[in-house]
Amino acid sequence: MVPRSLLNLNTFRVDHSCRSISYTNSSNDLVDLAKTINKPIIVGGGSNILFVDDVDRDVIVINHEGIEVIKTTNKYVYIRVQAGTNWHQLVLWAIENDLGGIENLSLIPGKCGAAPMQNIGAYGVELKNVFVELECVKIGTGERWVLHKEDCLFGYRESIFKGELKDKVIIDNITLKLTTNSNHTLNRDYGIINDKLDDLKVKKPTIKDISDVIIDIRKSKLPDPKEYPNAGSFFKNPIISTVKLKSLKSTYKYIPSYVIDNDSVKVPAGWLIDKAGWKGKQINGVGTYKHQALVIVNHSARSGKEILEFSKLIQDDVLEKYGIKIEREVNVY
Ligand SMILES: Cc1cc2nc3c(=O)[nH]c(=O)nc-3n(C[C@H](O)[C@H](O)[C@H](O)COP(=O)(O)OP(=O)(O)OC[C@H]3O[C@@H](n4cnc5c(N)ncnc54)[C@H](O)[C@@H]3O)c2cc1C
Repeated sequence: MVPRSLLNLNTFRVDHSCRSISYTNSSNDLVDLAKTINKPIIVGGGSNILFVDDVDRDVIVINHEGIEVIKTTNKYVYIRVQAGTNWHQLVLWAIENDLGGIENLSLIPGKCGAAPMQNIGAYGVELKNVFVELECVKIGTGERWVLHKEDCLFGYRESIFKGELKDKVIIDNITLKLTTNSNHTLNRDYGIINDKLDDLKVKKPTIKDISDVIIDIRKSKLPDPKEYPNAGSFFKNPIISTVKLKSLKSTYKYIPSYVIDNDSVKVPAGWLIDKAGWKGKQINGVGTYKHQALVIVNHSARSGKEILEFSKLIQDDVLEKYGIKIEREVNVY
């Protein structure tokens, strides 16, 4: 078998190879491939994957698309979305149809089938806020399986698909519950959204206004993978105890934190990495983005191994400086 290049299947743009690449054009294709391919690697848009070496495995790329309205009530519209649908195209579809719930998740790269993997989130909203259920297919048997919201064990950038069901199922479609415009409350918890709306003198924002503002903010903050190959936030924001935060504050007076509950807070990993001196730093063609230290950029590394090694240097340094272990958000193969 001739090895196939993964270059166009990962936004880090590393050119490793795999045994073979198959594409799904329908849900039936997915079942057939799930039955016949042993231990496949599933790829959507490749925007949250790091290949560290050539892989002796077969890859299935999820391409089947489609958005279908399955139920409407006075308040809600339920939609079933095929896994290969581009996420941002879904957001634009919702806006066109005057449906609220996912506008804060505008411009997140990738496909809808990957969205439950890490319960995608941004600007105060997570997938789980609109998620109803999904249908997946078991690898090995091709058996279909419906998982409801509570089965998916969604957490901060977490789900059962990164734990117990890792490499065991392929997500075929997801069902979301969007809210009709007149019943929808816009989420403006993030101050920067309100600041931007004020700048634009928008007094009564619409669903589209929120999406436009978020697109604007994201474009100004995050590097475009086409120009700076990256996979978004490389690490999750760590959750630490309030006791730990208090002790850190004696050295780092201005450390930002967000309350999780009485005993714990979330600390921005980007701040920790930045203050440890890593912002814009480059080693062997790999660096952190000059405007956001949480994003690792592949400037010229040929192997994903170099990206992984660079990320480990950051993890070690953060552990040494603050006593905090930061975990990877990106999926490594
Ligand atoms: C510039 C940039 C900004 C980003 N911003 C955000 C953000 O704000 N919030 C956020 O949450 N994420 C963000 N991300 C990360 C990424 O966009 C999301 O995680 C997205 O959901 C990944 O989709 P994908 O199709 O590219 O998944 P891939 O990278 O192809 O896959 C990711 C993981 O999901 C698995 N997978 C993919 N599809 C399926 C399927 N159908 N069934 C089973 N497993 C599957 C893969 O095997 C892999 O483990 C960002 C990434 C970039 C590059």
